[in-house]
Amino acid sequence: MFDVEIIGNKINPYCKDSDVWYPLGQLTCMIAAGETDWIKKPFTVITNWKLVEEKARDYLESCFHSNDVTDKTKGYLFCRSKYTYAKESYTVTKHFDEIIDEGKVKLQVKDCYHFDNWVELMDFEMMYATANNISIFVCKNCGKYFATLNSGAVYCDRIYRDNKTCKYFGAKKSAAEQVKNNEIISFYEKSYQAIYYKKRIAKNKSETKKIDKILKTMQKNRLEYRKGNLSDEKFLSMIESYLTDSNN
Ligand SMILES: [Zn+2]
Repeated sequence: MFDVEIIGNKINPYCKDSDVWYPLGQLTCMIAAGETDWIKKPFTVITNWKLVEEKARDYLESCFHSNDVTDKTKGYLFCRSKYTYAKESYTVTKHFDEIIDEGKVKLQVKDCYHFDNWVELMDFEMMYATANNISIFVCKNCGKYFATLNSGAVYCDRIYRDNKTCKYFGAKKSAAEQVKNNEIISFYEKSYQAIYYKKRIAKNKSETKKIDKILKTMQKNRLEYRKGNLSDEKFLSMIESYLTDSNN
């Protein structure tokens, strides 16, 4: 069981046990980056963290490949239709704090959500992050996802090297390069969704199989591109050829 609490645009991964708050979406970003130190409670049910990481990346890329609210919403709905596991099986408990507000004692009621499925927790977080139009970007220095309340942010706060953050190193990189990368990923996601739609309306098994194969190859190439193993030009021409292949 894993507990989270949400207030406004922030999420706390421990509920009443702690007062650590992240921008909504950051838990999924950390899982995607393989950073799981914040998980205090042992999770015996997880045997394959790599698979959970991959799902987290998939969610983030589908929902947050662009900072446009329509794209985010479409991306989230796309994920909902793609992952067909039991939804909303989490439970909620309430707790309250006594707070002093302008000299008066008041009750602050909080909802604590309990999850026993990681994908469900990520789906829940992505749902709120989308609904609240949170900005989630790929850090242009380390390449990892981060959630931020600053829609103009480009670099994350992770320590990159020599005890200095990505923000510190990133300031030196060119702005034009960052815009170009964002546009390419956005083009990839739109193409992926268009091809995925073709799978849903496929007329027979062999057509479905063919499109499945294209989608899998696309995911592999996206990963290679993110790792920097594919150039912009090569990646773009690959996407274009997949669009053509899926039409034949
Ligand atoms: Zn970074």
